Amino acid sequence: MADETPDFASLSPQEWKDRLTPEEYHVLREAGTEPPGVGEYTDTTTEGVYRCRACDAELFRSSSKFDAHCGWPAFFTPLAGDAVLEREDRSLGMVRTEVLCANCHSHLGHVFAGEGFDTPTDLRYCINSISLTLEER
Ligand SMILES: [Zn+2]
Repeated sequence: MADETPDFASLSPQEWKDRLTPEEYHVLREAGTEPPGVGEYTDTTTEGVYRCRACDAELFRSSSKFDAHCGWPAFFTPLAGDAVLEREDRSLGMVRTEVLCANCHSHLGHVFAGEGFDTPTDLRYCINSISLTLEER
């Protein structure tokens, strides 16, 4: 990570490719999805803060991570309401809600509501591990 803080929302595709691995670029900048069960944080219970792997913004806390048995890290709420952006995603013939980093507009995953999970919100922020970096605290 460079010392200067760029304006992440205006980086070009090539600038992103210079900053990210091809796998990170595919998920973060092309709204890809990592395969279920392979992400490094799927079953992680370590306490800490999950940051955006693209821009380092704080996105989720380990205290809101729960085991949804879905193959990806799941959180019931972002760290702050303005940490993420949500927008309708009609790809793949479904209507889903895409979750993006509010700071750099990189793709994080999707959020699903009303699935019956025993959490304070009954929301499931289904986030790609490769979009996150866990900072242990
Ligand atoms: Zn970001």
